[in-house]
Amino acid sequence: MASPQQISVSMSYSRSSSNQVLVLNCGSSSLKFAVMNPRDGSVSVSGIGEALGQGEPVVSWKIDGDRQSTSLPKDTRHTEVIRFLVDEILAGHPDLGDQLIAIGHRVVHGGEKFSHSVLIDDAVIKAIQECVALAPLHNPAHLAGIEAAKDAFPKLPQVAVFDTAFHQSMPRHAFIYALPYALYRDNGIRRYGMHGTSHRFVTERAAELLNLSVNEVSIISAHLGNGASITAVRNGRSVDTSMGLTPLEGLVMGTRSGDVDPGLLMHLGSRMDYCLKEINDLLNKKSGLLGISELSNDCRTLEKAAEDGHDGAQLALEIFCYRLAKYIGSYHAVLPQVDALVFTGGIGENSSLIREKVMNQLRGIGYAVDGEKNARARFGEEGPISADHSAVTLVIPTNEEWVIARDAAELVSPHIPDSGPSSRE
Ligand code: ADP
Repeated sequence: MASPQQISVSMSYSRSSSNQVLVLNCGSSSLKFAVMNPRDGSVSVSGIGEALGQGEPVVSWKIDGDRQSTSLPKDTRHTEVIRFLVDEILAGHPDLGDQLIAIGHRVVHGGEKFSHSVLIDDAVIKAIQECVALAPLHNPAHLAGIEAAKDAFPKLPQVAVFDTAFHQSMPRHAFIYALPYALYRDNGIRRYGMHGTSHRFVTERAAELLNLSVNEVSIISAHLGNGASITAVRNGRSVDTSMGLTPLEGLVMGTRSGDVDPGLLMHLGSRMDYCLKEINDLLNKKSGLLGISELSNDCRTLEKAAEDGHDGAQLALEIFCYRLAKYIGSYHAVLPQVDALVFTGGIGENSSLIREKVMNQLRGIGYAVDGEKNARARFGEEGPISADHSAVTLVIPTNEEWVIARDAAELVSPHIPDSGPSSRE
């Protein structure tokens, strides 16, 4: 089995190992950052600013294995966190700041405009602005982060990596809803899908593990975290995915309902006097594992409670697995051939219980779990968990930051002058 070091060797750019990328993930009230070596995914600095624009902002970070955190003034937003990173964290390690070659931004929504990562210029910023209606909480935060990063690092190229980009290869019959076509044509209402960066990472990694090239690998990728989505990948390209116009569609998630009868919305509005905001809160924040169990959205808590006999926790886990198994079955109908089912995300990477339940549900179509391998595949362990006679099933820890760092490095590498023979491989 290839190690992460072996994967990095296959990457197409060949530059000094000292080149680093600053990866930024700006949420509506948080900013995650990491300084990463795009060749091997090693991280020298990582951290998060939280409660931005609300309550008591705090920034915590890890550098050279050393963890620190401090509170920041009340009005701290993305700009101030990036300034803190430059003035307080990187300033103490000038070698690191000097090695930065690019900044890679995670951008949730690129609409139909982006099927790949791009260098950010004014036209890209305008296009991200035009997608604000599709991601009203995320895209404005990304734009704020891009502006702040431009101010703090005026000389560094910036790259946008879109969660939606990987799914732009879906065919029309998979992304058009059965609604009046004008809603798509005039308003862009369609399935876009999310978690594309993660589905792409595990696709590439699965190809490595299966000794196939990326453009010949076909997998079903189940990204199971607090948000969860599943993607059918044919010949390395997404051909269907469970999230839709918004991240609400599809699988049961931590607090999101996933698929429901759309008639429910009219029922809640006209019969039960829910307003739109209440319906939004109900479906996005109060449903899913939390709503069913009436206990928690956290899979670990539910597993423990289910073991202790908590009925709600048992039911929540049953429904989560049943619905996931149904999607996997339907994606077998989408794909002419499936080289592997892949589990990733916090639940997919760690919960042997969920994986076992799902695979047992799928016995009829050839899945069988290997108990020992399944129990071992936790806490970052990668590998197969299927029995010898089973349809191949893998656990692959995802690494979206690494995809962002790699894309950023690949897009900027033609512009980087060689710093000398020692910078060559
Ligand atoms: P996010 O979507 O917020 O990035 P993560 O990918 O971190 O979420 O996944 C969070 C989920 O993973 C939570 O439901 C958590 O309980 C679950 N999880 C993490 N570790 C384990 C574990 N050891 N066993 C079962 N579930 C786990």
